[in-house]
Amino acid sequence: MIVDFHCHSYYSDGSLTPQQLIQLAEQKGIELFAITDHDNCHAYNDLMQINTEIKIVSGIEFSTTWNKIGIHIVALNFDTQSEIIKQAVIKQSKFRKERAQKISQRLEKHGLDNAYEKIAQIKNGQQIGRPDFAHLLIKEGIVRDWNQAFKKYLGAGKPGDIKNQWLSFEEIVKIITSAGGVAILAHPLYYKLTNSKLRRLLQDFIKAGGKGLEVVNGFQNPDKTNYLIQLCKEYKLKASIGSDFHHPSKRKHLGCDTRLLKDSNVVWEDFKGI
Ligand code: AMP
Ligand code: MN
Ligand code: MN
Ligand code: MN
Repeated sequence: MIVDFHCHSYYSDGSLTPQQLIQLAEQKGIELFAITDHDNCHAYNDLMQINTEIKIVSGIEFSTTWNKIGIHIVALNFDTQSEIIKQAVIKQSKFRKERAQKISQRLEKHGLDNAYEKIAQIKNGQQIGRPDFAHLLIKEGIVRDWNQAFKKYLGAGKPGDIKNQWLSFEEIVKIITSAGGVAILAHPLYYKLTNSKLRRLLQDFIKAGGKGLEVVNGFQNPDKTNYLIQLCKEYKLKASIGSDFHHPSKRKHLGCDTRLLKDSNVVWEDFKGI
């Protein structure tokens, strides 16, 4: 079976509309699907009247921190209309705006003038994220490419990395659970933690009410997948899988083959009607 429980639309840093994502998902033969935009679920308003065979599950990818490390938590199968989710989206969006203004101030010292104003004008009220700063740094010739933008200015520990403004790790998990959803630790190997630190993160995640682990994120080395499947079993978490698709490209494809999960217990086995 082909599924995808992690991808982005133009409501965060993806380039396709929710409708275009659904069309692409149909072309790829995807049966179960969630759009997990960063810190918002506006895509689901667009999908209210959509007519498709695909089973659509609500989704969001929340930004938070754990021990000062930026962590992403994917929520699936929650009530997008619940007050608790709406309030969380409003708060995260306020933090995002404040963060963008702070990033802009910090990058002023590195030769990027009025970044916030320039980006806000283009985005016209849409969510602003670090990828927008990466584009501007490239456009103004301050960096060569995307990698350099994150390596020098926007990645962990760099001037554009602003800490501790999101809802806390525990709050996010509680919000997801209260809205009827399941909290999944996104791309666990992306944070480059030592094995013991990753285990501490998993223990804290489970203590907070987290239930799932994303064992496949996009195209991934099989050794990594096997390691995550093992961790998932050891901690009695449910396995999730997603492409983390943002834009059509040769390297990243929408949809993941569930055979990669082998005999894991999967998150969607608990979803009603699926
Ligand atoms: P933000 O949501 O504003 O914190 O921006 C983070 C997003 O930037 C991630 O979700 C990725 O889509 C994108 N990104 C691309 N390359 C990198 C990188 N090297 N480090 C961090 N984020 C990256
Ligand atoms: Mn992204
Ligand atoms: Mn992420
Ligand atoms: Mn993502």
